[in-house]
Amino acid sequence: MGSTMLAASLAGARAQAASDADVVVIGAGAAGIAAGHALRAAGRKAVILEARGRVGGRTHTDASLGPAFDAGAMFIHWAERNPWVQIAAGLGVATAPEPWGGGFRLFAGGQPMADADRMKRRGVFGQIDRRLETVDISARDLSIAELLGDLGPEQGPIAASGLLLSIGEEASRISARDYQRLWAGDDLVVPGGYGNLVARHAQGLDIRLNQPVSAVAWDGPGVAVTTPSGTLRAAACIVTVPVGVLKAGAIRFTPGLPARTRDALAGIGMGALTKIALKVEGDRFGITPDSTYLEAGSPGAMISFDMFPGDADIVVGYCGGDHARALSRAGAAAAGAHVTDLLATMVGGEFRKAVKGVSFPAWWTDPHALGSYSVCLPGHETARDALAEPVGGRLWLAGEATAGGGAMTVGGATLAGRAAAAAVARIKV
Ligand SMILES: Cc1cc2nc3c(=O)[nH]c(=O)nc-3n(C[C@H](O)[C@H](O)[C@H](O)COP(=O)(O)OP(=O)(O)OC[C@H]3O[C@@H](n4cnc5c(N)ncnc54)[C@H](O)[C@@H]3O)c2cc1C
Repeated sequence: MGSTMLAASLAGARAQAASDADVVVIGAGAAGIAAGHALRAAGRKAVILEARGRVGGRTHTDASLGPAFDAGAMFIHWAERNPWVQIAAGLGVATAPEPWGGGFRLFAGGQPMADADRMKRRGVFGQIDRRLETVDISARDLSIAELLGDLGPEQGPIAASGLLLSIGEEASRISARDYQRLWAGDDLVVPGGYGNLVARHAQGLDIRLNQPVSAVAWDGPGVAVTTPSGTLRAAACIVTVPVGVLKAGAIRFTPGLPARTRDALAGIGMGALTKIALKVEGDRFGITPDSTYLEAGSPGAMISFDMFPGDADIVVGYCGGDHARALSRAGAAAAGAHVTDLLATMVGGEFRKAVKGVSFPAWWTDPHALGSYSVCLPGHETARDALAEPVGGRLWLAGEATAGGGAMTVGGATLAGRAAAAAVARIKV
């Protein structure tokens, strides 16, 4: 085919593609999938464009080592009101209470933590919640580090260190008001994998994989969304890519996003929670399956290990904040070596020989995530609501970052995707 004919054929394909969507949804994570279902229920034709070769985004059940683990989300948080409890039930997928019944051991530098240090930790446990009840943050937002300031330079970081595993971020970069707003409740897990459940829920939607969106033009009557395969035109667009991806400028908006949206983005960062999984074959080293080993010698480098969950040949480490960022930049081999060394100190040098593989979902350096989940910076606790405001009557930013008290979670992303779809469905297409 000559180049003119090829161009004509591509133009034809684009023109055809241009007519086949009411709404383009960018991203096939929980928010994009929820938007797709809601739009379909409202009788709107939605096309979902996904950059990766898989659906699910920051939910992914990784079976690359053999035994599977959830590389991203694992818990159905605040299960009392989380839509995933119903979605799982509807699909006949089992959910269960948290499985950790194997006990808990605390280490410092790979050695059992000294009693005096354990007591110090116990003394500061729960200080964040206590201060949120007693410190007045109505006049001014504080960082969690400021909130804990009077604990002093030794105890403050210990009190804050749990946030590295829950929020994935350093206490100095977390808004106390936003933190206080986050919903709480019971957690459930999905024994067959939360990522697998989300992927299953996506079945039947018009999702186009390997379609990284590079541009969204909203200067005409509707939107024009560009991927390497061409440009899709629609009346409206729901953008569910992570805040990290938006902030990196991976999608060029024409005209640029309004100042209010840009300010909102500037007020939200991305945490760096990550997991590092090792395949560990043979010996269990006397370790009770489903136990937790916590290395907390240096609060900033805290790392928690789920030891042989479900008695499978796998150990899954978690860490967050700047320590996780450094490991992500170092790459899988270096991160795997680091946790292997640490575990060998904890359980014995023979551990090294039993390690047969590493899987490192480094969300911080993953170009389609650029972080684990959104975190409001101190003083920017209104940013989530501002980000959720529609742009020009045809662009909606959705996803976990816009989910208010449900932010940071799969359930929140789902509610945000549904809310954006409901708003889009009200406009004339
Ligand atoms: C390690 C870790 C543990 C977590 N644990 C939990 C937990 O236990 N419970 C919980 O509820 N939540 C947890 N979360 C958070 C949860 O995974 C997210 O909040 C949720 O999955 C976000 O869904 P989303 O649809 O907003 O975004 P995403 O899932 O990130 O979906 C956005 C999609 O956009 C795609 N995309 C990116 N750029 C482009 C582009 N240019 N063009 C097209 N597509 C693009 C991405 O590939 C992705 O598929 C965890 C996250 C991590 C990283």
